[in-house]
Amino acid sequence: TLADIDALDFTKGDGLIPAIVQDADTLQVLMLGYMDKAALTETLTARQVTFFSRSKGGRWRKGETSGDFLNLDHILTDCDEDALLVMARPVGPTCHTKTTSCFGHETAPGIGFMGHLAQVVRERAKAPPADSYTARLMQKGVAKIAQKVGEEGLETALAGRAGDLDELHAEAGDLLYHLSVLLMARETTLEAVLEVLRARHAGR
Ligand code: AMP
Ligand code: ZN
Ligand code: ZN
Ligand code: ZN
Repeated sequence: TLADIDALDFTKGDGLIPAIVQDADTLQVLMLGYMDKAALTETLTARQVTFFSRSKGGRWRKGETSGDFLNLDHILTDCDEDALLVMARPVGPTCHTKTTSCFGHETAPGIGFMGHLAQVVRERAKAPPADSYTARLMQKGVAKIAQKVGEEGLETALAGRAGDLDELHAEAGDLLYHLSVLLMARETTLEAVLEVLRARHAGR
């Protein structure tokens, strides 16, 4: 984590340091920008990612006109302290072309999509749209959600034994989705589950 701004090397970039922005939940790479010391200071105090815009020639808080702010989680520095990795939670699309990322993937690539799914499930529970299956499932309570996890687990096992890959993918998808709902209903996260796996791995 970034400890000391004064230890950073701004000289290589003529007062600017490159800052890669990554989604703190999905790990999707969102954009690249540049910060001078003032922009970095503003980022840390406002907890919203602020750059030095080379085209605007001055400070630029991402989202200041669009409303699509990047809320700061934390910042990492690289090995020789001349580059930043900014972990943030985007309010909306990060690219001015309205895509999630400037680097082209519409939603989080790879298993980062599990992080996106957790966000969607959380939003459905908070502000349930009328036709939301997730919202209806939540209203039935945790026992019903747990039962669904059990059923989908069994269906996944049976599909895995039978060997039809389309069916296995579909049932495993049902299982991961319902597991996401169960974790949310118990007010915990997939991250907490992964922490258990990480600790086991470290113990080897
Ligand atoms: P915003 O900061 O989202 O209010 O956008 C203000 C202006 O900044 C836009 O009209 C673009 O010119 C520029 N801009 C916004 N997002 C990006 C981005 N991800 N990369 C480069 N330029 C951007
Ligand atoms: Zn470096
Ligand atoms: Zn862009
Ligand atoms: Zn199923």
